[in-house]
Amino acid sequence: MKTKKRIIVLGITLLVFLIILTERSSIIKEPKLIEEVDEYTVLRKQMVDTQLRTRDISDEKVLKVMENVPRHKFMPSLLDQAYEDHPVPIGYGQTISQPYIVALMTQELNVDNEDIVLEIGTGSGYQAAVLAELVKEVYTIEIIRELALRANNTLINLGYDNVHVKHADGYFGWPGKEFDAIIITAAANHIPPPLIEQLKEGGRLIIPLASPSGFQTLTLVTKIKDTLDTRFITGVRFVPMTGEVQKR
Ligand code: SAH
Repeated sequence: MKTKKRIIVLGITLLVFLIILTERSSIIKEPKLIEEVDEYTVLRKQMVDTQLRTRDISDEKVLKVMENVPRHKFMPSLLDQAYEDHPVPIGYGQTISQPYIVALMTQELNVDNEDIVLEIGTGSGYQAAVLAELVKEVYTIEIIRELALRANNTLINLGYDNVHVKHADGYFGWPGKEFDAIIITAAANHIPPPLIEQLKEGGRLIIPLASPSGFQTLTLVTKIKDTLDTRFITGVRFVPMTGEVQKR
């Protein structure tokens, strides 16, 4: 009888012990997922819904990327303006483009995940990051040394290891490389010929082209058998491309 009691007590103790153990291990194995939703996540979603979907941005891949890339992390100050519908100063007289223009240029470039893309005008690095989410490699050139260094740091900190930043005059492109798409994020009165040379057959190039009166037209060219198929998209306002382009 005594032994029977002992066995029961032992059994109950073991059971309690087991219950505690499984409780604990279930806590360890399945941590409650706390989604990191901050105020910026909400603002980003609003930006996509009110500034992009309501206009002519319909490429779901582009919309998703715009909803994910933390634009405020590319800005040195004025973070509260990161998701507003206008360009924002980033220092050195330069700006981070309006979200809609970033989305529009990205959509028009029509890239895929095998593409190698060149950007002229790194600025904050934000446009490069947006592209980096959609393509294989992004090469980006910035003429202002401090901006090139800052953008490079931002991109590294956010884990973008497929973006290569260079401090140089983008007029000459990235010698020795060929690109599926080229994006120029500063206004020029002509397309630098080295960029056309570095564009692959069938490749797309997008640039804000400035007329002598100063009016700028976002222009998409496609290289087809050494001719350039040209399409005008819309009027825009970009900071000017500096350096060699202004001497020609
Ligand atoms: N794409 C940037 C914004 C572009 S602002 C972003 O996402 O933040 C335009 C940038 O072009 C500026 O930083 C300016 O310094 C740079 N720029 C102007 N002329 C250039 C040139 N010849 N070569 C490379 N960068 C140039």
